[in-house]
Amino acid sequence: MSSRGVAILGSTGSIGTTALRVLARQSERFHVAALTAFSNAALLAEQAARFTPSYVGLVHNGQEEHPGWGAGVGCLIDAATHADADIVLNAVVGAAGLDATLAALERGKRVALANKESLVMGGSLVTTAAREGGGELVPVDSEHSAILQCLAGRPTAEVRRLVITASGGPFRKWSARELEQATLADALQHPTWRMGRKITVDSATLANKALEVIEAHFLFGLPYDRIEVVVHPQSVVHSFVEFIDGSVLAQLGVPSMELPVLYALSYPDRLSDTGVPPFDAVELSPLTFEKVRSTEFPALGLGTEAGRRGGAAPAVFNAANEQAVAYFLEGAIRFGDIPRAIESALGKFADAPADSRDAIFEADASARRHVQELYRC
Ligand code: NAD
Ligand code: MG
Repeated sequence: MSSRGVAILGSTGSIGTTALRVLARQSERFHVAALTAFSNAALLAEQAARFTPSYVGLVHNGQEEHPGWGAGVGCLIDAATHADADIVLNAVVGAAGLDATLAALERGKRVALANKESLVMGGSLVTTAAREGGGELVPVDSEHSAILQCLAGRPTAEVRRLVITASGGPFRKWSARELEQATLADALQHPTWRMGRKITVDSATLANKALEVIEAHFLFGLPYDRIEVVVHPQSVVHSFVEFIDGSVLAQLGVPSMELPVLYALSYPDRLSDTGVPPFDAVELSPLTFEKVRSTEFPALGLGTEAGRRGGAAPAVFNAANEQAVAYFLEGAIRFGDIPRAIESALGKFADAPADSRDAIFEADASARRHVQELYRC
């Protein structure tokens, strides 16, 4: 079997480093074709020395010492369309990932998608690029990986609903008043997953679940009234699919991103030696489920509503959230300001035009400017 080339966009991040751990154990089947990062030149250089990719790109800061590397935002596209890359693992955080997702799909590549923001922002552009370019979108997100495995190719007409699990984040039991005062340190204490800072805050507000509901809508083609969320604090059941006969399938596993990362590379095949600890039902029990407290976590409802509304609304939701989370990470706004900023931006720009890539980026920019003006940071 010939080795498949994998381009990793965002190789220095949480998913990127997990992917390199996975690939180090699968060197007979896959090789690293390209690596890109934002600014961590030292770690990128270490990775490049170990995995010897055909292409290395750094968006910002530190290329001077590495004359062979690509530089600037264009390096994401260069890596995503590189001839040696059969699979593009998009593990960039945020809207910055959209153009690379589109470019890879237009070239007919498989995109192993961790960067859910690109699908939320440009859902129909992305699905059209895949259809027209012959590319393939395979989710890395653990919930969507679970749904893909449970669906096993069955048509959506046989599916009654998808139930996406949510850990509930660090504030699962906090009151509305406590949430208002939650600090950055509190928000960064995720109970079950170690991830990048932005998605960790998104998990605390439940904006991450809203992004995942929209992601599921575009990946699996189900309407929003057939996609639900349930809180499952242990993060062992990664999601459920209920079929029309009432049978419910779930995918379970210890909370580790190595498994969904490997599955997105090997799909539909399964490979051994994932490095994932063995499953022990007794050790992992009890498994419990709770309703989402929608009033205390308004970001989930705002995002789902933006998804139903369609057009530019999901891009506005995503951009306002990204800007508000960036401010929260800087200590400039409070935790409770994040959903307020999103609601305010949606109130102004949800109906903006969304008929092209440029229109979507315009809606994204308007939402960010709006949040900047709201807080004048
Ligand atoms: P991270 O912050 O740890 O890593 C982000 C990576 O992207 C880094 O390599 C960084 O250098 C690069 N990057 C950041 N901004 C960039 C920009 N503007 N242009 C180019 N490169 C940039 O984030 P993460 O936790 O690995 O998450 C990455 C993506 O995967 C996010 O979309 C997140 O929602 C998704 N995801 C993450 C997890 C997880 O367990 N971490 C799980 C599911 C989905
Ligand atoms: Mg997830």
